[in-house]
Amino acid sequence: MPEKAMWADVSVVGIPRSLLYYRYGVLWTTFFTALGRQVVVSEPTDKAIADRGEHLSVDECCLASKVFMGHVDSLIDRCDAVFVPSYPTAEHRTGFCTKFQSVTDIAKNTFRDQHLEVISCEVGNVRKVRDVRRPFEEMAIRMGASRKEAHSAFKAAFAAQAAHDKVLADAQERTLRQIVAKRRAAQTNPNADPGLGILVVAHPYITHDAYLSGAVLDALADMGADVVFADAIDHDHAYKKSFEFSDTMPWVINRELIGAILLTEDKIDGIVLISAFPCGPDSMTDDAIMRYIQGKPILNLMIDAQSGTAGVETRVESFVDILRFQQKGGYTHG
Ligand code: SF4
Repeated sequence: MPEKAMWADVSVVGIPRSLLYYRYGVLWTTFFTALGRQVVVSEPTDKAIADRGEHLSVDECCLASKVFMGHVDSLIDRCDAVFVPSYPTAEHRTGFCTKFQSVTDIAKNTFRDQHLEVISCEVGNVRKVRDVRRPFEEMAIRMGASRKEAHSAFKAAFAAQAAHDKVLADAQERTLRQIVAKRRAAQTNPNADPGLGILVVAHPYITHDAYLSGAVLDALADMGADVVFADAIDHDHAYKKSFEFSDTMPWVINRELIGAILLTEDKIDGIVLISAFPCGPDSMTDDAIMRYIQGKPILNLMIDAQSGTAGVETRVESFVDILRFQQKGGYTHG
């Protein structure tokens, strides 16, 4: 088969429910579906997937990338090929951590004995549509699509992802308005609940993977907090805002998370930072955030494969108790 259509026989595409699936999953699934492929997304992370990923990875890998390998493993025999794109750091300030560049090669190498077929493309600057469109269209042509079919599949996929992102961003804005409204109501009515607005700051594949962060979100919900997700705040707006924090930070998601903090800090009561051990970018940015953000309580949680979420509920409950105590004027600052 000519190189040009090397993936023409792939009719079922497996997508790991992990890492950038939580950011671009709508684009990916819409794209392959528009090309007439059946898409199989791996099941939500559970202990078996996490344990398998841990077993397949070297110790130095972060928890998120270990979990990813467990998802790839779970797709073997369920599809003709697994989609593992590469997102290298094409340009300064719009890149990803190096894991996203190397993940395609790591997956191929890890599963070489199983002869895993990997479909991939190398995406350039994710903030430039043409840099995303070109590799996806080239991949479609390798799957046997015409240039026109490739173009229209990408167009549909990109529009679907944009619509999805807007729904999420609008939901965060609504929650922020509710938080402000409750606080205002309590100022005029001492018996009214002032509410408690918490901004959860983490990479989307941490925040929205219930196995990794479910305990944190459940604890916040049980304590009656209104939660805003930093990763879902309008990406473009947050990205631009991040330059007030740093002109040089290289990672686009960390930029958006920090921009989201700056956009919302006057409306929320506290911040929960969640990181996967040992995350290189977060180890730098978490520390910088805690120094830079003044007057807003921050809880910094690290999740690793050994401890999982043990003890997380207690820490979240204590944090929320302290915030509520503060709301009632419990602490005075001299
Ligand atoms: S940004 Fe951190 S958590 Fe995400 S893949 Fe890189 S090291 Fe892992």
